[in-house]
Order: sequence, then C-alpha cells, then structure tokens
Amino acid sequence: MKKPNFDFARNRKDTSVETSEYIIAENLKNIGQNKKYFIKTYGCQMNEHDTENIKAILEQMSYTEIDKMEDADLILLNTCAIRENVHDKVFGYLGRIKHLKQTKPHVVAGICGCMAQEESVVDKILSKYKWLDIVFGTHNIHDLPNILDKALEKKELEVQVLSIAGNIIEGIPAKRVSKYKAWVNIMYGCDKFCTYCIVPYTRGKQRSRDKESIINEVKNLINQGYLEVTLLGQNVNAYGKDLDVSYGMAELLKEVALTGIKRVRFVTSHPWDFTDEMIEVIKDNKNIMPYIHLPVQSGSNNILKLMGRRYTREKYLELFDKIKKALPYSSITTDIIVGFPNETESDFNETLELVNTCKFDSAFTFVFSPREGTPAAKMVDNISLVEKENRLQELNILINKYSKEANDKYLGKTVPVLIEDYSQKNKNILMGYTDTMKLVNIVGDSKYIGTIQNVKITDIKTWSMDGEIVNEL
Ligand code: SF4
Repeated sequence: MKKPNFDFARNRKDTSVETSEYIIAENLKNIGQNKKYFIKTYGCQMNEHDTENIKAILEQMSYTEIDKMEDADLILLNTCAIRENVHDKVFGYLGRIKHLKQTKPHVVAGICGCMAQEESVVDKILSKYKWLDIVFGTHNIHDLPNILDKALEKKELEVQVLSIAGNIIEGIPAKRVSKYKAWVNIMYGCDKFCTYCIVPYTRGKQRSRDKESIINEVKNLINQGYLEVTLLGQNVNAYGKDLDVSYGMAELLKEVALTGIKRVRFVTSHPWDFTDEMIEVIKDNKNIMPYIHLPVQSGSNNILKLMGRRYTREKYLELFDKIKKALPYSSITTDIIVGFPNETESDFNETLELVNTCKFDSAFTFVFSPREGTPAAKMVDNISLVEKENRLQELNILINKYSKEANDKYLGKTVPVLIEDYSQKNKNILMGYTDTMKLVNIVGDSKYIGTIQNVKITDIKTWSMDGEIVNEL
C-alpha cells in the first residue's frame, strides 16, 4: 500500500524529474476479456484527458466501454479535489456502487484522480469504504494494469498513490473523445502554490514535456485528421521554466502553429507568466485562436495578496489592456472566487468594478471552499454562507449581462466555426465553436461535421448563438 502524504507532495527541493516510456506487460493484455468498464469523470480538462488515457489503457487490457454503470464489471470514478461539493458528489455516488456490489460482488470499483491524492480522503476510504477495490493517484495512471492485476489477485483494497514531485511518462495511449479536437499535455503540475489551491499537492511539481515530444504528438494528430489542438497544463504560460533551456511558451506556441494544424488553443494561463512575446506570437499566427482564459480570481489587491496570486489588480488590467489592444477581436474569459477569508464588501465591490472594466466574454464563478492542507484552509472562513451566496448571485448577474453583450456583437457577422457534432438537444441541428470559443448551433447537413465553415450568426442567446453556413469552404 502506498498512501498520499502532503508533506512529500509539497516538496520542491532536490527533486529531479524522470522521463520514461509507458509499457504494458503482455500477460496483462487479456485481463479485461469479455468484461465491461464504466468511468465517470469530475473536474477540469486535465481530468478529462486523464480519462482518455485511462480508457485507452483499459482497452489495451481488452475491457470494453459501456455507459451504464449498473452493467459494468469495472467502475472507476476519476475525481476532482478543487471544491468540496465534488467530494460530496463522489461519496454520494459510492453509495450507489456499494449497493450494486451487494448484488454483484464480482464488480471491481475504484477511485482515481485528485481526490485520491488527498490524505484525508484516503484515510476516510480506509476506515469507511474498505469495500472499494482500487485507489490510485494522478502519478500512477500509467501503472493501472499492474494495480488492477494486483487488486484482482488479492481481492482486497489496493491503494497506490505516489506523493512524489512527479515524473513524466511518454507514450500513454489515449482514447480521444473527439475525432477533430485533441488535448495535448505540454506540462504537468504547478509550483505557484496559490493559497486556496490544492493542485500543487495533487499534481506535483511543474514538469514541462520535451518540446520534440509535443511537436511529434501534434504532427501525429494532424496525420490522423485532427483540426484543433488545445495545449494543456495547470499554468501553460510557465512552460519551459523548469527546463534548463531558453525556450518558453511563446516559442512553443509558434512551433505548434508552424506544424500547420488548423487551430491551436491553450489553457490555463496564469497572468504572472503571460509575456509580450506570447501576445506577439498569437497576433502573428492566424491559426492560434483569439481566445484567452485569464483567471483573475479577485479585483481587490488585499485579497489577491491573501490568495498568493503574485499580481495586483493594476498589473492584471495592464495585461488585459495589452492583449485587447494587440488582439481587439479576441474573447477573454476568467475565473473569480467570492467570499475568500476577509473579503470585505469593499473588496467585493472592487471585483465588480474590475468586471465592469473588462466586460469578460464569460466567467467561471465560485464561492470560496477551503481545501484541507492548503494555507487558506488555516485562515478564518469569516464570510457567512448567505453573504457568499449573495455576492455570487450579484456577480453572476453582471457576468451574464456582459456575456450577452459580447455575444450580441456577433449578430449578422460571418465567423469561422469548427463543426463538431450534432447538437445534444436537437439531432437535426449541428454544433461547433467559433475561433473565439463561442458555441454556435447551425442549420446544416451532417456532411459538414469535422470541417471548418463560414457561419453567419442569425440569433443570439446568453450561452450560445444560432447560425447558418453561408459559403462552403
Ligand atoms: S496557478 Fe492555478 S493550479 Fe497553480 S496553484 Fe495557482 S490556481 Fe492552483
């Protein structure tokens, strides 16, 4: 058994990063013969992409995917640790799995992802959820065949959670959700240690992948017919800072753009590392999409300092302005937390003012939720839940107003849209995203799926737009 340990996870001294290749032993490739797996994913794109890796590994082991948990022989929950409500959802879901295991004892069930990296979660599992079969962390995904093999052999809970600064495993296969858009990890982990955030503990030290591996992955995706890649990391702008080279995100973005892939995106950006060179590269390369997610978190310098964000309100606004001047057509979205410890009415008003200035295209807004083990969890959570909810509501009204205003500007315009699929709500309608990441529902033939088309916007909603293809490309 290997349990997580936040003291080790926090360590950033004397840590070297090892890169190795994923391998699966021949004798483990038939373990899942005639068996079905079900996986449920919580959280961010990083987790979604981890799930793509887990699915491909399970299919190498001959498991078949199904979408009904009750019919599965293997059930995995790939979890997120960012907010408390996901913990509640996951533990609630475990109740359903326990019930199923009572009638189908052969079912193997497990938890992976960021929650598995938390000491308190694993302690809770060991005391109250011992009926689970496997628990593995974000650093152990490549080892899933061995972990599963051991659990099946022992028939008792197998916990394998490494709390290392992290390694890089190349060559892990992926069963990608889309045939046209792909996530490409460019780095793992984070060294920023914002005081509210658990990611540096659950995902480890910042480790940038070798640029050749990234470029080769993008070239392979082009050969497979992919039109869009999203370069993925907790703080992509810091790419390369952990390597002993003078090659950073601006250089990488440029090189990825030069592969000729139709669309390049990147998430998530920390304002601290967003350089002028990056802005220039985005401006000069038309296949880098004019969409930037730039989390601000708060508009108050007092709160930004308590959050350990390393920039001021003024610096953020300066950067925002610089991006908008260089890329006036771009859309910028953000993340905001309300109700952080000691956030006064006046701090909150500064956040509202900043939103009034930036008029974001959209924002993910959250109520502060203390994460055990982080510095913010030791601060007095002195804003009442009612006050937090009121602030969130007031903020959301403002955010929605500006989202609608930003979308309104598109009415009657013709914009490029990557048409991905049928709309989930209406199988007679197609859906896709503009270069600026606006969701568009389109009247059109299915032959357009997997192509980029010029679409005229005919109607605007708060969260989406309607459009029609004007001239076939
Ligand atoms: S930069 Fe992002 S991932 Fe890193 S600690 Fe801050 S909020 Fe967390």
